[in-house]
Amino acid sequence: MATVGSVTRQIAALEISGTSSKGPAPTSSVARPTHAKHPSQPNIAKLLTKFAAPHHQSQTNLSNLPPPPPSRSDKTQPAIDIGRYDGGLEIENEKRGDVVTGDAAADLALDSSLSRIYPTQEWSLHLLDMGRPLGKGKFGRVYMVRTKTAPNYILALKTLYKSELVKNKVEKQTRREIEIQQNLRHPNILRLYGFFHDEKRIFLMIEYAGKGELYKHLSKLGSFSEKRSARYIDQMADALVYLHGKHVIHRDIKPENLLLGINGELKIGDFGWSVHAPGLRRMTLCGTLDYLPPEMVEGKEHNEKVDHWALGVLTYEFMIGSAPFEDRGSANNTYRRIAKVDLKFPSTISPDAKDLISKLLRYDPQERLPLTEVLCHPWIVKYRPNVT
Ligand code: AMP
Repeated sequence: MATVGSVTRQIAALEISGTSSKGPAPTSSVARPTHAKHPSQPNIAKLLTKFAAPHHQSQTNLSNLPPPPPSRSDKTQPAIDIGRYDGGLEIENEKRGDVVTGDAAADLALDSSLSRIYPTQEWSLHLLDMGRPLGKGKFGRVYMVRTKTAPNYILALKTLYKSELVKNKVEKQTRREIEIQQNLRHPNILRLYGFFHDEKRIFLMIEYAGKGELYKHLSKLGSFSEKRSARYIDQMADALVYLHGKHVIHRDIKPENLLLGINGELKIGDFGWSVHAPGLRRMTLCGTLDYLPPEMVEGKEHNEKVDHWALGVLTYEFMIGSAPFEDRGSANNTYRRIAKVDLKFPSTISPDAKDLISKLLRYDPQERLPLTEVLCHPWIVKYRPNVT
């Protein structure tokens, strides 16, 4: 549907940094989950669309933003409710984290207004209305927020405690994650609009994913229908084409790292393990066990084809409800099954779905189906909604 497609491109969030977009909408479109019951969502989705900033090509600042959304006093449109703030940031900040000094402090002095590539306006907590808590991450809380100045965009604000990043030795990785994400513009990749920091914390202003974690929907349902799975995989493949075109390998594709936008569209949300590696082949072992490809299990070099493998695992998990090589009893067995590509399908899986999964889960990375062919695979095309 055209309206849904345009919503995908007009993310409900704030365009504050200089932006560029991939251009036309991807070939994939939007999955509309049938199970999610949020009575107020359609209205909110419409409103959020109005608040959305287009993914346009230009160096922007606030003066270039799209027309403001309806204000609270607007009689025709209710303002979006960002929920009640629980004071959690202040409470937490009293008890948690230490001031970081030295090289680490320099590494973590992250402020998008100082970015040489995409300078944005200077942000601080004072410029945001705090809303409801969205969740807790390993390094801090995530809140729904709205910018105080028009056009009052809705965002997710993620906090990261610097001292905890240092303690976990992930300060460089975090910096890399932020650097990668701020340069990405794709409807199925969560936008990072800006970031700022104080003595103890880094704050990331991220596109708000209205339907939350995909993993929760999958856990609740046990598995997804073929149609719903195909639509997610379509969007995922499209995002991966974009990432690989920018020499970004994701390396940690799994349901837990995926969120859903307000219209149910898939959003890749975590770049913790991403590598920006033009022409590089890596040998670091990382990622989640069930999604590891044979070359990583065997400690060999790997390249972007690890994401093709993970896409196959994801397709399987969406439809079956568990990863194909999972062995709850023993990690060694999982490794062994991955190395042998010990792939078994339940009889419920359609031949087309089996065909796609089998073509992605190949031992030899070079034999894995190219992403452009995933996008025109019959199973994907069959379920792709018509965009008019
Ligand atoms: P994280 O620190 O990324 O693991 O986030 C912790 C939790 O906050 C997640 O599990 C989500 O439920 C929620 N969350 C994170 N980012 C967003 C977002 N952009 N939009 C909505 N909810 C989010």
